[in-house]
Amino acid sequence: MPDVTSATPDLSSFQVWFLTGSQGLYGEETLRQVAEQSRRIADELGGSLPVTLVWKPVLTDPDAIRRAALAANADDRVIGLVAWMHTFSPAKMWITGLDTLRKPLLHLHTQANVDLPWSSIDFDFMNLNQAAHGDREFGYIQARLGIPRATVVGHVSDPRVVGDVDTWARAAAGFAATRSLKLARFGDNMRYVAVTEGDKTEAELRFGVQVNTWGVNELADAVDASLDSEVDSLVAEYEDLYDVVAELRSGGERHSSLRDGARIELGLRSFLTAGGFGAFTTSFEDLGSLAQLPGLAVQRLMAEGYGFGAEGDWKTAILVRAANVMGAGLPGGASLMEDYTYHLAPGNELILGAHMLEVSPSLTTSRPSLEIHPLGIGGKQDPVRLVFTADPGPAVVVAMSDMRDRFRLVANVVENVALPEPMPHLPVGHAVWKPAPDFRTSAAAWLTAGAAHHTVMSTAVGIDAFRHFADMSRTELLVIDEDTTLAGFQDRVRWNAAYHRLAQGL
Ligand code: MN
Repeated sequence: MPDVTSATPDLSSFQVWFLTGSQGLYGEETLRQVAEQSRRIADELGGSLPVTLVWKPVLTDPDAIRRAALAANADDRVIGLVAWMHTFSPAKMWITGLDTLRKPLLHLHTQANVDLPWSSIDFDFMNLNQAAHGDREFGYIQARLGIPRATVVGHVSDPRVVGDVDTWARAAAGFAATRSLKLARFGDNMRYVAVTEGDKTEAELRFGVQVNTWGVNELADAVDASLDSEVDSLVAEYEDLYDVVAELRSGGERHSSLRDGARIELGLRSFLTAGGFGAFTTSFEDLGSLAQLPGLAVQRLMAEGYGFGAEGDWKTAILVRAANVMGAGLPGGASLMEDYTYHLAPGNELILGAHMLEVSPSLTTSRPSLEIHPLGIGGKQDPVRLVFTADPGPAVVVAMSDMRDRFRLVANVVENVALPEPMPHLPVGHAVWKPAPDFRTSAAAWLTAGAAHHTVMSTAVGIDAFRHFADMSRTELLVIDEDTTLAGFQDRVRWNAAYHRLAQGL
């Protein structure tokens, strides 16, 4: 079974099948060469991917194609298919198979050779190497059938080609992870908040995620069940990994608060593991008998790969989980983020993002500080939390809004920057970024789209992975990047409204 539900997935447990199209017209010898060449191309490509690329025998008739699609649908290990029409595979052969397929598809438009063999080329070579028009025939039938797919062009020795397939495969892994995701909500949404609401039934249809709620005291029971010896070793781990402030260390006057934080982590982890949950939400308005709002525990679980949304925000929790899976094994990470406050110096505007507590330390390579500070809301003990600044570098923030007839993803390409000045009194993990194309356009576009104040920030995968993810889940995506103008963006919002209502019939 693939490793889709474990917190930190091993992408090599996911399979992408490599399908090659041809036909019998040119005889057995040509088909033998097609098989040999396509296997070589698959080996070259697969050697550079984080997922396992599985070469399949060359397809030459409609029944074999349909059976390949059915087999891919039925195999939980398979997260997507790569298809290449090496010779000419008349595309009516593919109608039933493509109509049957329920897994993401990448059309790889490549060929076996880089160079034309100028001095030796003859018509046997022409018959063997016809992807230039075989893939155009395949493109037609995919377009005719309205098949969502990625299209990647070039020889597999070109790093751009491998990079594009890698990004798509990571998106497919993220999509596979949401399709098997069980998300536990502790409490409901923060009272009166609009954008964190949404249609959980539609979410299960669109993303495959099961969103259900548990009473927070079931979590509190799991917290109470943790053993003192487990708390001892977890606290020792904290002291090893983080700069723990003196008052929280063993013998410090507030050490018991750190032990309470460790107990919450143990309880959360055991609850999530027992239920097979890959994502969760909390609510500061509904903490039952928990001693503190979970901060440190949530931060560490997000860094391990869990999805999380604060204040009952299950939609952002889905995105954090998907981003964590897509970025598995890469530098950087994914976290809940909230646009919090601004530096509005004209021409050098910056956004300070943070949350009450829950920002993932996967955004930093520095050693976080483990601290305790008061929290004005929630009515509980002061919570323990990791404090750090996200590393400078490229990132993307993505939000999900429920527009009533569909979900809308909005993504902004951003650049995390080094702090212009230290913020010694800010008691939470945070990031400071410059949004593309500029602050005024970015914020105006974000507001125009009705995008949320909660996002996932990913520093491991960029905008292209989210484009694929949106295509795979047939979800609207509005991108704010270097090419965005406000007028163009406003037009796109209008056109998308029409498109997505029409596309619901597809
Ligand atoms: Mn919030």
